[in-house]
Amino acid sequence: MKAITWQGKEDVRVENVPDPSIVNPKDCIIRVTSTAICGSDLHLYAGRIPAMQPGDVLGHEFMGEVVEVGSAVEHTRVGDRVVIPFTIACGNCFFCQKDLTSLCDNTNPDAAKLEKMYGYAGSGLFGYSHLYGGYAGGQAEYVRVPFADVGPLKVPEGMSDEQALFLSDIFPTGYMAADNCDIQEGDTVAVWGCGPVGQFAIWSAVKLGAGQVIAIDRFPERLRLASTHDRVKTLNYENVDVFETLKHLTGGRGPDACIDAVGSEAHGTSLDHWYDLVANKLMLETDRGHVLRQVIRSCRKGGTVSMPGVYGGFLDKVPIGAAFGKGLQFRMGQTHVHRYLPKLLSHIQDGEIDPTYLITHRMDLADAPEMYRTFQDKQDECVKVVLTTQS
Ligand code: NAD
Ligand code: ZN
Repeated sequence: MKAITWQGKEDVRVENVPDPSIVNPKDCIIRVTSTAICGSDLHLYAGRIPAMQPGDVLGHEFMGEVVEVGSAVEHTRVGDRVVIPFTIACGNCFFCQKDLTSLCDNTNPDAAKLEKMYGYAGSGLFGYSHLYGGYAGGQAEYVRVPFADVGPLKVPEGMSDEQALFLSDIFPTGYMAADNCDIQEGDTVAVWGCGPVGQFAIWSAVKLGAGQVIAIDRFPERLRLASTHDRVKTLNYENVDVFETLKHLTGGRGPDACIDAVGSEAHGTSLDHWYDLVANKLMLETDRGHVLRQVIRSCRKGGTVSMPGVYGGFLDKVPIGAAFGKGLQFRMGQTHVHRYLPKLLSHIQDGEIDPTYLITHRMDLADAPEMYRTFQDKQDECVKVVLTTQS
């Protein structure tokens, strides 16, 4: 089959690879119809995540049709049209039972070994390095999906791929980022980063009762998209002092909650730093961005810092003393996608949101290499790329 593979830093290719097959009786195989490129894929593309191997199949946002099921699969059927959570969960372990499905204990068999090497290892994710289980991803014609009765969500008839696709990751991720803020009616929520995750966090913060949402980025098209929601003000961080402006907009107190929907790109972490880390050296930071520092400085006393943005390894010079002194609470991690699916599906069905407003590029799977570059550089006003498997 055709698949998008990682070959090294800024090198992804269309390759022919063997078709996946059922490995465990609880697996199913899906034929991918639509898949997307995520800001998280850019961390792999930029070489910021370790434990990638040349030839690894990329992609964790995808959906399609079930074409084969294992002998122990009871509910998912051949022919079902499904969207797949990017986090792989068994549904039964201590963590899954607590609805913490992105922390499932049964999806990364090498976790203990990896933890010794890298400081931590995540639960299984599609297409996201051997640190997260080494599962082949969904930027491909076919994918093996473990725990077929737990993850795949049936797409209602009449709902298009484009409307359902973002349930795999960025819609729940933006929603959880806002949910983690424990928003009280009328709160001010500031969101750093108006990429797809930031956009859904903005929509969700409004939905959950924020009185004012302040969206921060530098790309005019992304700021414009953010400003289409009620109660949203936008700041271009290249033109204003973000800290001072946030104070000004909140009566001198700072936002009640701050969402970092940027992640490590703003801190210049790279694979070299991981090697430093493995060698037990201090991770140095570069001078770009410092979103997390700005977030900690800006958040009001007793406020919440929510971090959907992905971080890896060590991040030096985080003002933890200020965070302690201000009594901040921090929420972060991979999204518990399964937890949010029924609710968010119903918001789409009810017409409260049409997630397709983020799609700027519709291309064929084979165009992925060019689209990684376009999305990374935010060329051509790129916000979200959807790839389909036409041929
Ligand atoms: P993206 O690259 O499209 O968006 C990032 C945005 O941040 C860009 O618009 C960029 O201009 C902006 N930005 C950069 N520096 C900034 C600064 N100093 N201040 C304000 N904005 C700044 O990516 P995305 O798809 O929206 O993803 C955003 C983050 O969410 C990534 O780190 C991604 O890995 C992460 N993510 C996490 C999860 C999860 O489960 N926690 C899931 C999906 C994505
Ligand atoms: Zn993603």
